[in-house]
Amino acid sequence: MSLAAEVTETFEQLRETVAALHGELTRYELVIWTAGNISARVPGQDLMVIKPSGVAYDDLSAATMVVTDLHGNLVQGELAPSSDTAAHAYVYRHMPEVGGVVHTHSTYATAWAARGEPIPCVLTMIADEFGGEIPVGPFALIGDDSIGRGIVETLKWSRSPAVLMRNHGPFTIGRTARDAVKAAVMVEDVARTVHKSYQLGTPEPLSEQDVDRLYARYQNVYGQQGEK
Ligand SMILES: [Zn+2]
Repeated sequence: MSLAAEVTETFEQLRETVAALHGELTRYELVIWTAGNISARVPGQDLMVIKPSGVAYDDLSAATMVVTDLHGNLVQGELAPSSDTAAHAYVYRHMPEVGGVVHTHSTYATAWAARGEPIPCVLTMIADEFGGEIPVGPFALIGDDSIGRGIVETLKWSRSPAVLMRNHGPFTIGRTARDAVKAAVMVEDVARTVHKSYQLGTPEPLSEQDVDRLYARYQNVYGQQGEK
């Protein structure tokens, strides 16, 4: 297979994967209308596959996904890329280990973002998936690198794959787009549970030692081989 054919195949596979993953955002009720987006880095290249801007979830397909470079310039596709493309691109440029980025305005996680309050590590599943509290990132306006910079500057100091961007909503990262989608589903779930816990009293924090143990076990041992 020629290099060009291999590249095309990777694009096609990634377009399919990223289009299908958008179905998870609606399945878990993390998005409304056209809000929310998923991207995946094209392995070994300075390119990413991302959702097009302003297309309804029912109309998304592999063919509608777009490919951009890591500065958000359109490389392949008919439609304009997501309005959050600059943020995704900034993350890929500055976090080489990241292969997927997800953004939603899921209700409970966004409610925490509106208050500018990190979600405390009060559940084993928060320790497992996020390795500590889920941090808040700075307020940033859309239009330049500010959102991406805020995501990277918050997450590089944290084990968490999720950041609650202040007055905006969650962005999540992962080794793959699927991992980032999982983090987006989990952050909404724990945001809801911890919110409800606060309605009943004050949730108890886990000790740092237990958080470390849980995180290490979950990240290294839990699940089927190679899958979490
Ligand atoms: Zn947004």
